Amino acid sequence: MRNSFLAASLLLALLTTGAVAAESAQQLTAPELKQITAWRRDLHEHPELSNRETRTSQLIAEELKKLGYDVRTGIAKTGVVGILKGGKPGPKLAIRADIDALPVTEQVDLPFASKETGEYLGKNVGVMHACGHDAHTAITLGVAEIFAKLRADLPGEVMLIFQPAEEGPPPGEEGGAPLMVKEGLFKDFKPDAVFGMHVRSAFPVGTVALMPGGEMASSDTFRIVVHGKGSHGATPWLGVDPIVTAAQIVTDAQTIVSRELDLNRSPAVVTFGIFNGGTRFNVVPETAELQGTIRAFDEDVRKHALASLKRVAENVAAAHGATVESQIPLGESNPVNRNDPALTARVRASIEQAIGKEHVQDAQRWTASEDFPHLALGAGVPSVYFFVGATPAGTDPATAPTNHSPKFFLDEGALATGTEAMLQAALDFLGYR
Ligand SMILES: [Zn+2]
Ligand SMILES: [Zn+2]
Repeated sequence: MRNSFLAASLLLALLTTGAVAAESAQQLTAPELKQITAWRRDLHEHPELSNRETRTSQLIAEELKKLGYDVRTGIAKTGVVGILKGGKPGPKLAIRADIDALPVTEQVDLPFASKETGEYLGKNVGVMHACGHDAHTAITLGVAEIFAKLRADLPGEVMLIFQPAEEGPPPGEEGGAPLMVKEGLFKDFKPDAVFGMHVRSAFPVGTVALMPGGEMASSDTFRIVVHGKGSHGATPWLGVDPIVTAAQIVTDAQTIVSRELDLNRSPAVVTFGIFNGGTRFNVVPETAELQGTIRAFDEDVRKHALASLKRVAENVAAAHGATVESQIPLGESNPVNRNDPALTARVRASIEQAIGKEHVQDAQRWTASEDFPHLALGAGVPSVYFFVGATPAGTDPATAPTNHSPKFFLDEGALATGTEAMLQAALDFLGYR
């Protein structure tokens, strides 16, 4: 409502001068908000874990079909893609929404709070849209509906990607953005750009935040197994101690960030989260295992850190007479979520127009990661990813329960802001007037 009077006055002024004004993002979004909110609440009440989003994808496919989209289902298990060809020639744009929920038991008092459960790592767990992907899905369906209404005058083509398993597929399964790409997502539709967004507790409702360049970190999991030689704890000289060796690897790996990387260029993180070894206090074990994560905001920095860790692990082990078996990286990695600078400037201008310049802020680098960058890399095109504020007025975003918390609370005002921002960015990119 914030600018409705202004928008109405402007429209009146334009009409009286004879000019025809395209409807603003707010005017286009307003009639859809009731439906977007209803979708969001329905999805919130019925969250589904990664790679298990069957009800969710069915709902999405049905809605897209009703709107006249060319719909493909079953991509990367439960993924859904809708393509709409506008009535005029123009560029091709892909927009991604993630659709999965988390093994978290909801602690928010809402009439549509989740009571769902699911199986995760062999246990029955509560399931909750604690990351706000219910909002992304509802917003993107809302945008889909508006595109369908504008179809005759819409330049180009849009591909709406409803992606499963952003939080990561269950162990032993593939999933998410890399699997969608692998299964031929862009085989018959090559977009010129990919847009994505995420609701976040760190920003107040009504705002959007973004930045050019590496906005979210790459994420590489690693595993290092040190092979020594077991012996009696009383006679360690008869063995090769993998515990001491692994401890030295952990210590020496601290110099990768502090002494090897050019921190003027961009920061990085090397964290060990698992250190396993031994079964009894007086036995030098045969092996010790380390696992951890590397985060970076620049692909060269990332490659350097990965190579350094391998070098440190192998050489420290050799110095101790031990050997290592390393998986660096282990499993699927997320690349740097890098916003193309030129496209980010364009998208920022669109969002400022949609929600007001004063509501758009600079995002700071965030060491969290996303599988979204697999899409733009898979298509070989630039991308932009922005954050939508979710924390209600009167609550400090710095201390509000974060995404993934059982208390994560999304102010539904974010649905309007997210829809207006994505819609305006998309319409401007496509050249809609
Ligand atoms: Zn998440
Ligand atoms: Zn998320």
